[in-house]
Amino acid sequence: MTTIDLNTDHPFARALKQAGLRLTPQRLAICRLLAASHDHPSAQMIHDELSVEFPSLSLTTVYNTLETLVDLGLVNELGSVGPDGIRYDADTQPHVNLACTRCLQVIDLPSHHVRLLEEEITSSSGYAVKGARVLYYGLCPKCQKELRA
Ligand SMILES: [Zn+2]
Repeated sequence: MTTIDLNTDHPFARALKQAGLRLTPQRLAICRLLAASHDHPSAQMIHDELSVEFPSLSLTTVYNTLETLVDLGLVNELGSVGPDGIRYDADTQPHVNLACTRCLQVIDLPSHHVRLLEEEITSSSGYAVKGARVLYYGLCPKCQKELRA
C-alpha cells in the first residue's frame, strides 16, 4: 500500500476547503490517491484501497468528495466501464481514455486532435469548458491475445 501524505497544501485539498468542505484526513487521502493514481479508479476502488487505513470511511464520503472535485473542474468523470461503475480521471488536460471491456483497465492516450478539438469547441462556442469525457472502449492487446490463445 502507498503511504498517504496528508499535506493540506495539495491543490485539490485547497479547492475542497474553498468549496466549504472540512478537510478531514479521509478527504485528503481521497485527493492524494486520485492525484497519484493512473488507474482511473471508481469510487468503489478508492473506497477499497483507503478503507484499510480508514476503516470508518464511507462510500458516500468518497462519492461526495468526487462529486465536488468534478463540479470544481479538477477531476473528470469518464463514465462507467464495468460493474464497478463510473471511473474518474484527475488529469484534465485534453487526452483520450481507452477502456478495455474485458479486464476493465483504463489507459491514457495523448492526442493532438483532442487538444485541437477542445480549442475549437472553446473558441466556437464561447463555453468555459470545465471537463470532458473522451472514452473509447474495446479489447486491449493483452485481452485479444488471451482470447486467441
Ligand atoms: Zn484488457
